[in-house]
Amino acid sequence: PIYMDNHATTRTDPRVVEAMLPYFSEVYGNPGSVGHEYGAEAHTAVELATASLAAQLGADPQEIIFTSGATESNNLAIRGLAERNQRRGKHLVSVRTEHRAVLDPLERLVQQGYEVTLLEVERHGSTRAGWLDPEQVAEAIQDDTILVSVMLANNEIGVIQPLAEIAAVCRHSGVLLHCDATQAVGKIPVSVRELGVDLMSFSGHKIYGPKGIGALYVRRGSPIVRFSPQITGGGQQGGRRSGTLNVPGIVGMARALELCIDELPTEEERLAGLRDQLFAGLQERLSGVQLCGPTLDERNPAGDRLRLPGNLDVAFGDIDGEAVLIEMDNLAVSSGATCSSHEPGPSHVLLALGLSEDLARSSLRFGLGRFNTPAEVDSAIKSVTSAIEKLRKLAG
Ligand code: PMP
Repeated sequence: PIYMDNHATTRTDPRVVEAMLPYFSEVYGNPGSVGHEYGAEAHTAVELATASLAAQLGADPQEIIFTSGATESNNLAIRGLAERNQRRGKHLVSVRTEHRAVLDPLERLVQQGYEVTLLEVERHGSTRAGWLDPEQVAEAIQDDTILVSVMLANNEIGVIQPLAEIAAVCRHSGVLLHCDATQAVGKIPVSVRELGVDLMSFSGHKIYGPKGIGALYVRRGSPIVRFSPQITGGGQQGGRRSGTLNVPGIVGMARALELCIDELPTEEERLAGLRDQLFAGLQERLSGVQLCGPTLDERNPAGDRLRLPGNLDVAFGDIDGEAVLIEMDNLAVSSGATCSSHEPGPSHVLLALGLSEDLARSSLRFGLGRFNTPAEVDSAIKSVTSAIEKLRKLAG
């Protein structure tokens, strides 16, 4: 089947696999064992990869903490910060459309006596549907607020949030800002300095790198970002996250980001072109196609995109997205009926936009990526059209 589920994960680029291979079989030392050549070589590889990753994101190498992925990075940022700063306050601010890897740690904090404000976004039908007004963040901040957490790009509707403006609000109020940038890194230009975030999560497997590796950027300098480690043990990474480093993963994630950044200027345009072709094709052949999230060509006043170039999320109204997935055996996409196999019921993101449960259940999410071609888009249009026409006929 044609793969168009690149928000869920991506194929590891063969060039990334090639860069990783020596670190399984030849340079297999523990980077903590610097007393011998095996360890020293692994240590050097980690240092080079960290320097590359940091440089690509406008950070310093000391500001990067490696984790097992963005889920762990989000947990470390949110729970680690809340635990360490509870004497200063117990209030956190986030958004209803965040990933579960942010919402669940927040829910857990609520059970432990913290207070969480979840902000609303622009409603379905608006040209900026899903967008968070920075003014809302300003209004939500209280004297006891210790952290604001806002994602950069949404994994379902691709909306890109105004992080630099939100960072200005947070800085003005003396509140730290965490950003889940998992879907944005490598897809649009991302610089921690330009965004002004204090903490930022990202992951290898969304950028054509390996699964099971991610990182948390933690800003150095004043004011100091204090957090409690969530995984303790051997004291690796300055005690901020213990455990033997995943050397092949780190090397692979760094190589993956290099490739994304090299190709970004042309790839952004190419993917936006494929995505527009897909939407136009569906609209032409099917009735009742509704776009979920911001208008495809929407830009902010500075001219930046408001939507990830490879993202399309559409609702069809009268059919079940799950049934469409079952009907199509040659196209891999996902449905807003179950945005993840672990989340029962319609997507919380689409419900937050104000879609009814039925409309949310009728949606499909496409994530176009590096290996997709115009011919594949044509074929995807045909598959979706025939599946939906068939289901509509059956429903009479
Ligand atoms: N945040 C966002 C926005 C995501 O899209 C994902 C992956 N679905 C995650 C966090 C979790 O990332 P990981 O799989 O690396 O834990």
